[in-house]
Amino acid sequence: MKIIDIIRSEKPSLSFEVFPPKNSQSMESVRQATEEIAELGPDYMSVTYGAGGGTAAFTAEIAEHIQTSYGIPALAHLTCVSSSREKIAGVLDGLKARGIENVLALRGDVPEGVDVEKLDFRHASDLVPVIRRHGDFCIGGACYPEKHPESATSGEDLRNLRIKVESGCDFLTTQMFFDNNILYNFLYRMREAGIDVPVVAGIMPVTNAVQIRRIMAISGSVLPPRFIRIVERYGDDPKAMLQAGTVYATEQIIDLYANGLRAVHVYSMNKPEVARRILHNLSAIIR
Ligand SMILES: Cc1cc2nc3c(=O)[nH]c(=O)nc-3n(C[C@H](O)[C@H](O)[C@H](O)COP(=O)(O)OP(=O)(O)OC[C@H]3O[C@@H](n4cnc5c(N)ncnc54)[C@H](O)[C@@H]3O)c2cc1C
Repeated sequence: MKIIDIIRSEKPSLSFEVFPPKNSQSMESVRQATEEIAELGPDYMSVTYGAGGGTAAFTAEIAEHIQTSYGIPALAHLTCVSSSREKIAGVLDGLKARGIENVLALRGDVPEGVDVEKLDFRHASDLVPVIRRHGDFCIGGACYPEKHPESATSGEDLRNLRIKVESGCDFLTTQMFFDNNILYNFLYRMREAGIDVPVVAGIMPVTNAVQIRRIMAISGSVLPPRFIRIVERYGDDPKAMLQAGTVYATEQIIDLYANGLRAVHVYSMNKPEVARRILHNLSAIIR
């Protein structure tokens, strides 16, 4: 099933994410987490792509397992910056052969010291048309309510986002954000800029203090004072932080649905307990 059909429907949707193992030894624990999350019956599940593409086969394998064993549509992430055109064609052939219909087209982070002039793919907008030509895929792209860190201004980032969408994206998934007003403002500016594909809101339940420090360093997300106080108070108490983090994420999700957003993606990071708690909190809301 195509993800665009899920997120366009009137029913609010909720999806979860898993990431593949770094090597085959840790495949079993990832498989276990994936199965526990799949058993919760999300509308779809996404499987991330390891930086550099070395674990591409794991992404495809897990995505296929989710679809064939649980009947849940899978969204396979695919990054291009470290790959040749031949490698990307091979990965797409593999996804097609495994029955994967949905791909999140990403650039990935540019490795240090790389001469960008020599790259086959410099932006996700170079990858999208390649996927489009390769098969009947539903194609998503990433967007950044607080702008991508490499863009000088949000205006510049929006102009580039428009290029990406016009290259053939069916929908967008956002980077995490912790203040819904940032998303509402971004959606307004996006529509003003003439970008009108459906947007899936990405929510990260923060369940430990180390995680939040890493997130701040990578994404430059603004943290509302209310959220900072929760992390300061409970960050060193894993059980309390799990409870507080999933409740905070749930409140964000309820506010998004109440304000008309229909699709929410939870960065569940191979943590079935996080997915379970959020679904439980929403049981009467996403029936
Ligand atoms: C929802 C989501 C899922 C992700 N999943 C993964 C994953 O599975 N694996 C992984 O390694 N990483 C993942 N990432 C991280 C992502 O790879 C990085 O954020 C990366 O730095 C940018 O990828 P992108 O596809 O957004 O790049 P792009 O869309 O190419 O944008 C990157 C930068 O280039 C600019 N730009 C874009 N197009 C153009 C253009 N045509 N001309 C000029 N400038 C342009 C943009 O404004 C931005 O500053 C994910 C991010 C998100 C938000």
